[in-house]
Amino acid sequence: MCIFCKIVAGEIPANRVLENDEFLAFHDISPKAPVHVLIIPKHHIENFQSVSGDLMAKMTPFIQEVAKKLSLDRTGYRLITNNGEDGGQEVMHLHFHMLGGAKLLWPHLAPEKEAKKFV
Ligand code: AMP
Repeated sequence: MCIFCKIVAGEIPANRVLENDEFLAFHDISPKAPVHVLIIPKHHIENFQSVSGDLMAKMTPFIQEVAKKLSLDRTGYRLITNNGEDGGQEVMHLHFHMLGGAKLLWPHLAPEKEAKKFV
């Protein structure tokens, strides 16, 4: 069982923000911003590349509800999903990072030369 499935099952503690039958939001253990929450489907799905459109259609309003609960709907936030090796995905269970609570930086995520490849 993966680490996020263990959180869903209650085998590992997590600071839960919101949940329903299908989705769970909890605070990231190593926050990269004043607010850093992870939003996952309870059912194990490896990553964004393998999620169905139907599930994403249900996940979207849940994500919006999480933003409201954290009052980030008014101030703004960043939503990120790391997909696969180059994306830097470490936990192989689909999750969206919701980051906010400050004006976020927008740094180069790859060496500048490579980042300009398609400009
Ligand atoms: P990623 O690199 O996109 O796969 O992100 C995985 C995220 O999971 C990282 O931001 C970790 O800090 C976070 N994480 C790992 N274990 C836990 C945990 N037990 N509770 C909360 N967040 C976790």
